[in-house]
Amino acid sequence: MLDFELSEEQLTWQKIARDFAESEIRPIAERLDRSENLLADFPWELIKKGSKLGLRTLSLPKKYGGPDLDMLTWLVIIDELGYVDIACSKIFSQCWKLSRTIATVGTQYQQERFLPAFRDDDTFLLAGAQTEPESGSDSHLPYDAPDAGVRLSAVRDGDHYVLNGRKHFVSHAPVAKLLNITARTDKTVGTSVGTSSFLVPRDTPGMSFGRVHDKIGFRAYLQGEINCDNVRVPVENLLGGRTGQTSYRGVASNIELAVYAVVVARAALDAATKHAKQQGAYSEVASMLAGMYKDLQASRAILWRSTWMAVNRKPDRSLTMSAKVFCTEVAVKICVAALEVFGEDGLMRELPIQKYVRDAVALPHMDATNPINKLKITKFLQAWIGEGRLPEWGQSTAQVGGAGG
Ligand SMILES: Cc1cc2nc3c(=O)[nH]c(=O)nc-3n(C[C@H](O)[C@H](O)[C@H](O)COP(=O)(O)OP(=O)(O)OC[C@H]3O[C@@H](n4cnc5c(N)ncnc54)[C@H](O)[C@@H]3O)c2cc1C
Repeated sequence: MLDFELSEEQLTWQKIARDFAESEIRPIAERLDRSENLLADFPWELIKKGSKLGLRTLSLPKKYGGPDLDMLTWLVIIDELGYVDIACSKIFSQCWKLSRTIATVGTQYQQERFLPAFRDDDTFLLAGAQTEPESGSDSHLPYDAPDAGVRLSAVRDGDHYVLNGRKHFVSHAPVAKLLNITARTDKTVGTSVGTSSFLVPRDTPGMSFGRVHDKIGFRAYLQGEINCDNVRVPVENLLGGRTGQTSYRGVASNIELAVYAVVVARAALDAATKHAKQQGAYSEVASMLAGMYKDLQASRAILWRSTWMAVNRKPDRSLTMSAKVFCTEVAVKICVAALEVFGEDGLMRELPIQKYVRDAVALPHMDATNPINKLKITKFLQAWIGEGRLPEWGQSTAQVGGAGG
């Protein structure tokens, strides 16, 4: 039964997240956004305080000391943290996604080696490194294309793999203690089977880190460059113990980005509504506000439903991709419309509305871009039509074959 009521546990986390956002994130968010030295100003104290509350480790399984919160609860928490600042919130939630990958896909050795260390160190952040200067969308395609995919190579040498190549635009690259690096293990086959993931501690010899990307939005959430020069990684660190597996992206990533889109849109609509009321201009912009509200509610509905299906073991990849695309497109639309409601004031740095626009425009580019997600959705549609018809209400991808992605 699909239920929109929050459980007692979710209400408890909602309050923890709301209090933390108001007391710890709000006082520093604007200063972080304006920083001209993002690495020096990285909010380590905030992370330590959030870690004490369990906000960094909340998807860890109970056997590793975490509360094992599901993705519906992630929505509730991000809706509070992100309302105040999506960049600070994303520092925490990036760790939920990546620790969950190790907990679900990692070998016993990998779980025991890395998850307790991640849990016990309140500055332990995680990164997932796929994008390269010469490889972006082509490594997210739903089919194997010639010369597509990551170039960073991993060559077996006895009981090690040797990694060589470069990554860029990797979130937490400048600050993470452990990196999940995607590498090409076999160039003679397509990228879907010739690519693998490695868990690489930051201090491994041969790893070095280049510039921090100076973005217009999501500023406190750092991306950076990674260089691998003859980095020797033990075979035990091959994620899941087998080649041909790159699993850190997917349902969780789509859902996470969709909820950031919903919350930044909510914050922008709230700000626009308050502003219109204060200016006595409510009736002039009422129709604009109603349109934004309608789009926001539609975003929430697709997000909640796709997450519910994923949590209830009926994951529908085409639905979660649709949620990411729909919610991020709507967020950009709502944030720009909200800025219009402010008139010239919308352009002033002293008001947060311009920040919502800057943050929202980053979302469609994160993980697989929206055009690539649409390509993947098309592939599902083709597969379903091949089977006779599109899925019925409530039917999951798993039940209809599906198209991968
Ligand atoms: C804030 C932020 C955080 C990020 N974090 C990470 C991270 O943690 N780890 C990581 O590995 N990467 C990360 N990325 C990188 C992100 O995954 C890439 O930017 C994304 O995959 C697109 O790659 P690209 O920028 O090289 O664009 P390109 O591949 O160069 O594409 C440029 C444009 O062309 C379109 N395009 C390309 N190919 C096709 C096609 N075949 N059909 C239709 N349209 C196409 C794209 O949609 C895009 O609009 C992050 C990016 C941002 C902005």
